[in-house]
Amino acid sequence: MEKKNVPELFGSMVFDDRVMRARLSADVYRSLRKTIDENEKLDEAVAEAVATEMRDWAVEKGATHFTHWFQPLTGVTAEKHDSFIAPAPDGGVIMEFSGKELIKGEPDASSFPSGGLRATFEARGYTAWDPTSYAFIKDHTLCIPTAFCSYSGDALDKKTPLLRSMQALDRQAKRILKLFGKEVKYVRTSVGPEQEYFLIDKEMFEQRPDLVYTGRTLFGAMPPKGQELDDHYFGVIKPRVTAFMEDLNDELWKLGILAKTEHNEVAPAQHELAPIFSTTNVATDNNQLTMEIMQKVARKHGLVCLLHEKPFAGVNGSGKHNNWSMATDKGANLLSPGETPHENAQFLLFLCAVIQAVDDYQDLLRLSVATAGNDHRLGANEAPPAIISVFLGDELSGILDSIKNDTPYQGAEKVIMKLGVHSLPRFSRDTTDRNRTSPFAFTGNKFEFRSLGSSNSIACCNIMLNAAVAESLKQFADRLENAKDFQSDLHELIKETIKKHERILFNGNGYTDEWVKEATEQRGLSNLKTTVDAMPHLLDQKNKDMLMAHKVFSETELNSRCEIMLENYCKTVNIEGLTMVDMVRKNYLPAIERYLFSLAQTTSLMKSVSGNVKCNYEITTMERLSELTDYILERVKDLEKALEDLKACDGVLKTAEAIRDDVIPKMEHLRKHVDEAEMLCSEKCWPFPSYGKLLFSVY
Ligand code: ADP
Ligand code: MG
Repeated sequence: MEKKNVPELFGSMVFDDRVMRARLSADVYRSLRKTIDENEKLDEAVAEAVATEMRDWAVEKGATHFTHWFQPLTGVTAEKHDSFIAPAPDGGVIMEFSGKELIKGEPDASSFPSGGLRATFEARGYTAWDPTSYAFIKDHTLCIPTAFCSYSGDALDKKTPLLRSMQALDRQAKRILKLFGKEVKYVRTSVGPEQEYFLIDKEMFEQRPDLVYTGRTLFGAMPPKGQELDDHYFGVIKPRVTAFMEDLNDELWKLGILAKTEHNEVAPAQHELAPIFSTTNVATDNNQLTMEIMQKVARKHGLVCLLHEKPFAGVNGSGKHNNWSMATDKGANLLSPGETPHENAQFLLFLCAVIQAVDDYQDLLRLSVATAGNDHRLGANEAPPAIISVFLGDELSGILDSIKNDTPYQGAEKVIMKLGVHSLPRFSRDTTDRNRTSPFAFTGNKFEFRSLGSSNSIACCNIMLNAAVAESLKQFADRLENAKDFQSDLHELIKETIKKHERILFNGNGYTDEWVKEATEQRGLSNLKTTVDAMPHLLDQKNKDMLMAHKVFSETELNSRCEIMLENYCKTVNIEGLTMVDMVRKNYLPAIERYLFSLAQTTSLMKSVSGNVKCNYEITTMERLSELTDYILERVKDLEKALEDLKACDGVLKTAEAIRDDVIPKMEHLRKHVDEAEMLCSEKCWPFPSYGKLLFSVY
């Protein structure tokens, strides 16, 4: 077997700190570092010097083109390649790349969604280099991570508000740390996103229009075996999948992506990849790249990687877990319980900031993961419910309770804890009870937000999380900066926060009906079941006020985003509906009809040969199938009409509501009849590969 040198491979296609230090002059390096670490403005001369070195490095690695690489609101990344070549006087070419080209690009922005932000006469937008995320080479192209804005300064992408939210949190967290006597350069949030996906055979994928057009199956009867044996979870990885994973790791490592763990997931053909965590904007870029490269590498292995949240009904769908924490430039994790009473008080304050943020902005967190695809998972007992709550585990909950009630904490030294004076009792990381049903769980030194869909950009939820936590920290800092007695005011503040927000804390089983009842009726938590229910809350006054106060979004940006997300929902489901109609009319009905013909032919032939045959099988099957074709015809006409009616809806919200209330139920109804017919027809006459084949044929 060929031996791999992973340390040599790792980051070999990234213009990372090692390359910068080796290739840039000491002055240029120092100045760029200041921009990266402390957000200082980049000097033009420095940009020029960096561009030259970047180009030389990229050309040495075989790159011929460069592109500004950005994340428009379509949810996937965008790039427009320019070659380095410039004509030389002698008729040849030289490879050129200027500081200006590094810093700023002007892609034609007119075809990206802007939600009315950009009037058509001002179709241009510009991209601006994000020096905190390293440039890299992909397919002979130097990719420069950038933010994407309109000329009026409105963000047209997911990265700009993410960077703004990180700045907001940085600002407020530093105020808090100062109160604890700590001066730090910066506080940054880190994220480790666990990514789930399905792998299926490419040839079978291509036979199914639903997978090709929508990324999920819109029909399909359940095979005799699904995931009930749990034999796939953490099971032995099949050779074809292993080959894919090895190749994938190589490609990710070259790009400096810390792909770390991989395993089979619960559903057949489902897998997971988790990287080691990194700074949020880098983690976001890397997750986008990971999704792209997964799909590319799969194709090379004759496979297709499905990132849809619910590719198959009846087995688990795919999600993403957003592991999140805050750390200082000195590497101190602010969500790590400390060793001293002083550190513990600080930890509890940051913990309370998150608890308050999640309670106050449940709706924002919920809508940050809302898509048509994810609507199939949340609340369906395979992923957390649509109700947002926080899991702390029994021990940490016990500690908070004792602080709230001024009662001694069980198991500790039986003293009533005075923050900053007494040590926090040691608690284990609750590894026994991981409570998979909780949407937002504390796991020892980080929070894990588990409601994301597998194809979601992680930018959206981190924007909301960072902003909401920044707001709690701001309120805390405003109060504590004016404290007469810091220790006792701090204690009071923590106590009050626990009391005020304990309704969001829940350690029980989030999948039960009792929880839905308790959460909504007794605790008053919100239960926003679908994208259509959730998204309009983006424009609630309290949410707008907060996001604008921290300069994460402007009002016009918020309006446009709400519009784009709803539009996206409508378009997605509309394509699904049209695909169903297409498959039914062109394939399913004709296939059933052919089978009916052969049954009828057989019956009449058999009866003509012998007066004794009953043809029970043929006749009962025929009768039921014929009934089903009539139903299917009625249902497909219903769906066609529902889709047609959408055109008369007034505005995007009304359209989205009609989709939720009218189109989706009709799609489900239609599917039910087709799936029943599948069970009655011979497999040979069925026009598309079955669930059994799709889920169990990769070895
Ligand atoms: P699980 O047990 O939930 O499957 P994994 O071990 O697969 O968890 O993944 C946990 C993820 O959390 C990894 O990406 C890991 O790097 C990340 N992680 C660990 N510590 C932190 C932290 N302090 N901040 C953010 N992410 C973290
Ligand atoms: Mg996890």
